[in-house]
Amino acid sequence: MNILVINAGSSSLKYQLLNPETQEVLAKGLCERIGIDGKFTYKPANKEAIKDADVAMPTHSEAIQTVLHALVDEHNGVIASMKEIDAVGHRVVHGGEAFSGSVLITEDVMNALEECIPLAPLHNPANITGIKACVEVMGKEVPQVAVFDTAFHQTMPAVAYTYALPYEFYQQDKVRRYGFHGTSHKYVSQRAAAMLGKPIEELKLISCHLGNGSSITAIQGGKSMDTTMGFTPLAGVPMGTRSGDLDAGIIEYLMNKHGYDIKEMLNILNKKSGVLGISGVSSDFRDLEDAAEKGNQQAQLALDAFDYSVKKFIGAYAAAMGGVDAIIFTAGVGENGVTTRANIVSGLEYMGVKMDAEKNNTRGKEVDVSADDATVRILVIPTNEELMIAMDTATIVGK
Ligand code: ADP
Repeated sequence: MNILVINAGSSSLKYQLLNPETQEVLAKGLCERIGIDGKFTYKPANKEAIKDADVAMPTHSEAIQTVLHALVDEHNGVIASMKEIDAVGHRVVHGGEAFSGSVLITEDVMNALEECIPLAPLHNPANITGIKACVEVMGKEVPQVAVFDTAFHQTMPAVAYTYALPYEFYQQDKVRRYGFHGTSHKYVSQRAAAMLGKPIEELKLISCHLGNGSSITAIQGGKSMDTTMGFTPLAGVPMGTRSGDLDAGIIEYLMNKHGYDIKEMLNILNKKSGVLGISGVSSDFRDLEDAAEKGNQQAQLALDAFDYSVKKFIGAYAAAMGGVDAIIFTAGVGENGVTTRANIVSGLEYMGVKMDAEKNNTRGKEVDVSADDATVRILVIPTNEELMIAMDTATIVGK
C-alpha cells in the first residue's frame, strides 16, 4: 500500500510517497514558490533526482499535478499509475477541540477545518488549499485523511489546558492550551514503548521534541497529559527564534517604551527571540556551540538558558505524572545535540536519571543512552512525522 503524505504551506508543499507497512519511502520532495514562479525538487529512491527545476505553479493544483507526473514518469517515476496511490494523508496544524484524532476528510470535516482557521490563521488556510488541490487533481475516489498537530494533546485534563483567565474566554473564544508537534510526540512515544518492550499503557514518558521549534510533553499511558506549547506554538521553552513563556506584562512595557505596534512586537517574539535573541549569533544550535566554544558568552548563555528550561519542564512533568519511566529526545537538536542532551539531564540523578556518556555519543539513531543502573531510561529516537501520518491514514482508510 502506498500513501502520499502532503504538508502544504502557503507557498510550499512537502510530499512523500511511502508504504506504511514496510516503511519504505518511494519518493519525496518539495514544491516551492507556489503562486510566484515555481521550483520543483523530487528525490526518488535509487533513481535520478530533480533539483530546483523551474515548473510553473500558479496554484497548489499545479504543484500536486507536478508531483503526480513525476511519481508516474516512465524515466524516473516510482509507480506505474496514480491508481497505486491508495490514499493521501494531509498534515493539518490546528484541529481545535473538534478533532482528537485523524479523520477521513468529508464535506463536514472541511467545514469544521474552516471553523478552525481563526485559531491558526497562517497555517490552516494553506493546509485546506492543499486538500482541495488534491481532490481537484486526483478525484473524489482517492480517500483524503487529515492528521492534526493538535489532536494528540486533546487528552490533556482541564487542569493542564485551562488558562487562569476569565472563564468566558475559554467558553466563548476557545482560548486554552492546545499544544503542537502532536504527531511527533505520538510517534516517539510509540517507538519508546517498543524499545522498552512494555505496553504503552503502563508507561510514564517525557518527550522532548527539540528542533527549531521545541516542545516537551508528559505522556501517561500513551496519552498526552500536558505540553509546553499553548494556544499557539509561541509558548514553552525558548526556541530557535521564539521566546517561549514570558511575563505578559513585558509586552505592554516594550510597546510603550519603543513605540512598537502589536505586529512589530509579535514579530520580535516569533522571529527575533529565543536562542537567537539571547545570543545575537544564530538560531542554529551548531552555530551557537561553535561560538560558545570560541568564548562567546552570550551564545553560552543562550544554550544554558535553553537546557535549564527543558530541565525545569522535565522536573515539572515528573511531578505532574508522579514519576517517569523514560525521557525521550527527538528532532534536530534532540537527535543530534550530544552536549545539549547531557547538559539537560545533568543534575537529575536524584530522580534516577543517569546518562552513559559513551552511549550518548550518538546522532540520529534509536539508542538507549542511559547508564545500566539508571531507573529512568533516556532514549534518543529520530522522529518521523511522515511515517506517523501515513500509518494513521492507512488505519483510517482501513487497509
Ligand atoms: P525544525 O523544527 O525546523 O524541523 P529540526 O528538527 O530540523 O527543526 O532542528 C533544527 C535544529 O537542529 C537546528 O538548530 C540545528 O542546529 C540542530 N542540529 C542539527 N544537527 C545538529 C548537530 N549535529 N548538533 C547540534 N544541533 C544540531
